[in-house]
Amino acid sequence: MMQRTLIILKPDTVQRGLVGEVVSRFERKGLKLVANKMTLLTGDILKEHYAHLVDKPFFPGIESFMKCSPVILQIWEGFGAIDVVRTMCGVTNSREASPGTIRGDLSSSYGSNIIHASDSPENAEAEVKRFFSDEEVFDYKKVIDQYSYSDDEKTH
Ligand code: UDP
Ligand code: MG
Repeated sequence: MMQRTLIILKPDTVQRGLVGEVVSRFERKGLKLVANKMTLLTGDILKEHYAHLVDKPFFPGIESFMKCSPVILQIWEGFGAIDVVRTMCGVTNSREASPGTIRGDLSSSYGSNIIHASDSPENAEAEVKRFFSDEEVFDYKKVIDQYSYSDDEKTH
């Protein structure tokens, strides 16, 4: 199924100059960038986005880290894109993430772990709406699309 997934390139990625490295991996994988912007996250939006962690003792640390620098917000589209991107990211704790994954290759931290990515279709839909208006998300064709998937996967 064609899907859209939301990612946040966290402050460590912007500060360490790794934005291009991560974006390049998604491009080479054949995913399509359909929305892209830089923003400074606020406490309110972080409490909504990380609602499952707000009551944890480490939440204040996550909030201050995520606000310490601008972040890059992007939406990537592709066949099964939500799981494809999560697999490419690796597990949450970068120290345990497999080599070859984004976190496994680029970070040694649990909190400063490079990237957020939507973890389910329901959350992807909510996160796309949380960070982007309809006008900021683009529906467009790329000539290469016909070579990126087999015929039965071209449902979009
Ligand atoms: N996090 C942390 N310590 C924890 C759990 C989470 O610092 O014990 C941070 C970490 O940066 C993680 C984010 O909170 O990426 C969101 O946690 P979640 O469990 O949703 O992990 P993710 O979906 O990012 O892999
Ligand atoms: Mg999560």
